[in-house]
Amino acid sequence: MVRPEPTSDMTPKSASASAEPSAALTVRTLVDVDLTAFHTDPHMGEGRHEHTWNVQAVFDGQPFRDARALRTALTHLLSGLQGADLPADLWSGEALAAFVLSTLGTGDPIGCVVRRPGFQAEAWL
Ligand SMILES: [Zn+2]
Repeated sequence: MVRPEPTSDMTPKSASASAEPSAALTVRTLVDVDLTAFHTDPHMGEGRHEHTWNVQAVFDGQPFRDARALRTALTHLLSGLQGADLPADLWSGEALAAFVLSTLGTGDPIGCVVRRPGFQAEAWL
């Protein structure tokens, strides 16, 4: 087997190609934490029950932010809700997303996505 010789096809297409994302692209940083807690849906008559929601905080990807610090902040914010009964005003995924977006100051999030299988709620600035 002969190793192919490098060709012009194997080099960057333009001088702007680099390890940094292009300013023309929308680049986001997302971190997530699972929240397991109880809630009572006031509309469905299901009574108190438990879910695990995947809570994802979204940040501008530029300038670079340390995702570990962002995830630590999200973990800390949600730690008070883990295993708890969610307050009545946070019973819905939409309310949770809005809460995280408006409360998580670290890194200035631009969005929050809350998911369970077959369900997604979002809040965006
Ligand atoms: Zn539920």
